[in-house]
Amino acid sequence: MRRLEDRPLPSELMTIIRKDQQWLDLCSAAAPIFSTCSKAEVYSVIVNNKTQRIIGTGFNGVPSGWQHCRDGGCPRGTSDVPSGSTYDSGPGLCFAAHAEVNALTHGDPTQFHESTLYVNKAPCVGCQRAILGTAITRVVCPRIPWMNLFDSDDRIEVEFVY
Ligand SMILES: [Zn+2]
Ligand SMILES: [Zn+2]
Repeated sequence: MRRLEDRPLPSELMTIIRKDQQWLDLCSAAAPIFSTCSKAEVYSVIVNNKTQRIIGTGFNGVPSGWQHCRDGGCPRGTSDVPSGSTYDSGPGLCFAAHAEVNALTHGDPTQFHESTLYVNKAPCVGCQRAILGTAITRVVCPRIPWMNLFDSDDRIEVEFVY
């Protein structure tokens, strides 16, 4: 019996997989360089599917001019709340805007309908909601261990990478 991994992939699919890996590697490499959140180093790029040009980028960080999380700017940075706990209240409160939302905010919405959003961490429910509110048709990210809203919407295709 032939195993799945031995089966040759059509060259077009191989190209997509290679490109996906390149953009995700970029997010993983850029996350610790740019993120100013001490708890989660995240970087996101939105890429036009045809031109393969970046049309939006964002990282985890507080609004411009605020004290960075890693400099003591938010309660979460100095607390030991478990990963996945709420960002919005109590000791887990964090003022950083998430990478995906920053990429959407600073991206070119006129190109979203033929673009892929890449991010090196599984999107939280709030970011999933924000992405679903745009015309973005594809997301490439690590497997989502919490609620996955993308499952309920046929307009968006999600590729889990690890
Ligand atoms: Zn923070
Ligand atoms: Zn998020």
